[in-house]
Amino acid sequence: MSLVKTPRTLSKSRFVMGLKCPQKLVYASDTQTYRNLNDENSFLKSLSEGGFQVGELAKAHFPGGHDVTTLDQAEALAETAALLENDNVAIFEAAIQFENCFIRLDVLEKIGDRFRLHEVKAKSFDSAEDRPFLKKDGMPNSDWEPYCYDVAFQKWVVQRAFPDSNVTANLMLVDKQAVCPIDGLNQCFRIIREQKRTTAEQVKPIPESVLAAGLLKSIPVDDICDAIYNAGSHGKRYRGTFVDLVRGLSSICEGTREPAIQMLGDCKNCEFKRLNDQDPLAAGFDTCVRQAFPTVSANTGETVFDLWDYRKKDDLLAQGVINLVQLTEDDIGSDAHDAPTPGHGVNRQQRQWMQVKKAKSRDGTAWLDTAAWKAEINSWTYPLHFIDFETTRVALPFFKGQTPYQSVAFQFSHHEVDAQGHIRHADQFLCADARLNPNIEFVRALKRALSGDDGTVFMYSPHENTTLRDILFEIWDAPEPDIEELKAFLMSLVKPSNYGVRQWSPSRPMVDQLELVKQFLYLPATHGSNSLKYVLPAILNASDYLQSRYSRPVYGKHKAIPSLNLEERVWIHREHDGSVQNPYLALPNLVADLPADEQTALEGMEMIREGGAALSAYSRLMYEDLTATQRAAIEKGLLEYCELDTLAMVFLHQGVLDLMGDDQALSTDEEAGNEPLAL
Ligand code: SF4
Repeated sequence: MSLVKTPRTLSKSRFVMGLKCPQKLVYASDTQTYRNLNDENSFLKSLSEGGFQVGELAKAHFPGGHDVTTLDQAEALAETAALLENDNVAIFEAAIQFENCFIRLDVLEKIGDRFRLHEVKAKSFDSAEDRPFLKKDGMPNSDWEPYCYDVAFQKWVVQRAFPDSNVTANLMLVDKQAVCPIDGLNQCFRIIREQKRTTAEQVKPIPESVLAAGLLKSIPVDDICDAIYNAGSHGKRYRGTFVDLVRGLSSICEGTREPAIQMLGDCKNCEFKRLNDQDPLAAGFDTCVRQAFPTVSANTGETVFDLWDYRKKDDLLAQGVINLVQLTEDDIGSDAHDAPTPGHGVNRQQRQWMQVKKAKSRDGTAWLDTAAWKAEINSWTYPLHFIDFETTRVALPFFKGQTPYQSVAFQFSHHEVDAQGHIRHADQFLCADARLNPNIEFVRALKRALSGDDGTVFMYSPHENTTLRDILFEIWDAPEPDIEELKAFLMSLVKPSNYGVRQWSPSRPMVDQLELVKQFLYLPATHGSNSLKYVLPAILNASDYLQSRYSRPVYGKHKAIPSLNLEERVWIHREHDGSVQNPYLALPNLVADLPADEQTALEGMEMIREGGAALSAYSRLMYEDLTATQRAAIEKGLLEYCELDTLAMVFLHQGVLDLMGDDQALSTDEEAGNEPLAL
């Protein structure tokens, strides 16, 4: 255990962080030593959701409000105190201090001797639902807990700072029921980047109709605050009164108290982890493991945190069990005792036990239910179509008639594989123009891509189905001349929701490769993750065929496997230990060819290797003033990233054929002048 590196005040964000786990306050205080993945993630999340713009829109609901912009604590306190001399005032970023608690409030209204505070969040709620935040006992549910505790803490501080005043608290949230009355609401704001600080500013007047539409609503949460103040436990790690919780976290921030480390299942998602093996900063997570399990060598193999979809991690950790090899069948459940039956795949417990067994025996070989996968193949129609979408959901709708967080499908990629094994990057679509709603054009382009035959369409995860279903309902009554054809196309692919009012039977339902993987394939190198980002390097390492074929320049614009974006690409590169490198790591630096000053403007955007980076790249195209070369560089990066997503699905398809020994389905002609490659 240790103290914080630098004593600090207890802010809103530190309070919420400490509620989740007080040890995080120690790591967060030492940025020179520990990596915090959330430093980058929360910024990207806010950028892609439109959180900065929500903050600006909230201010428009308080005309005449005063902005306290200084970051200096003493100056902010003095400025706030001066503004509070007024009888009636609204202050943005008001600074209030009580003892070691120092908070900046999104909006603080003073009305006579009453204070009304509003915590603004880009999170959505459904105003048609009764009490959407609460469990039966009146406490916030787990989804809303951080937000409700955040506002309860603020109310507590303001009430202590002004003990004779009446203080009420609100969450100001995005209402999913509200309908945007104008096109281009986001164009009323611009993202500003100054050194390390990012803000939004209003650059156009916000029409009165937008405020009247109620996209943002302030919800009184005083009853929830009272429930929190009266509760005897808070979060997963604290038993005691709310006041003791505040004082305890405050003393940790002051450096007068050491937190106790309690590892629970939620440590799996702890943000204090290294970016990769080359990261010069340390992982607080590793420090916790060493301190909480001093006699166990937790860094030499998989841990319970790696066990796929396992829900009893808290129990195991409480018993001192952290290494996967320590588990027995009984820890998993009764189905773990049953060996898989060929042709029937595995259920969750059988798959979990397979993971443990392979870890115990250090068996890195793939498991495949060949009979089951063959049966699946027999149900497919060639050519096979592999599609992947990049989509976003933004808090403030881009377009008139949309509701908050409605799907915006801005990109897809499509690879095709015919019955002879020929592969081509067949189609792609990208629309990042803030003036155009891409959804209907997206569907038209997808229809053109898939309507030439009735081949089976593959996705990886239900995301593509959900997105197309959302768009189907969005365009249901659209006045487009081809709307009935577009609807018929979507209904041929998309499965309806089990609980939906509208039901239909798709004639060509999409096949989810993720479901096939979960039931019929286990690759130990994935360490229990079924994400395609882990499955791709694992299948490349498991398949000699993939390694042989793609270590040659067969892929590219004028190659045997044509690409729409890449001139020539060899996909197999080796790590120092001889293993195949993850191809996502080989995606090129998209700013490398730009002049130095243009590179600086795109700092942080150099690599698009995962969905989060793709979303923030799209957000920058939508919200920022970029030069034509910067836009072109970002669009190129997005196209190459999405292309690899569908190529990865093809690699998975081919890798499984190789594991099955299906040479016939794999053999195909190669580049002109080359012999077909032998397996
Ligand atoms: S690993 Fe667990 S105990 Fe350690 S800081 Fe993270 S959440 Fe807290």
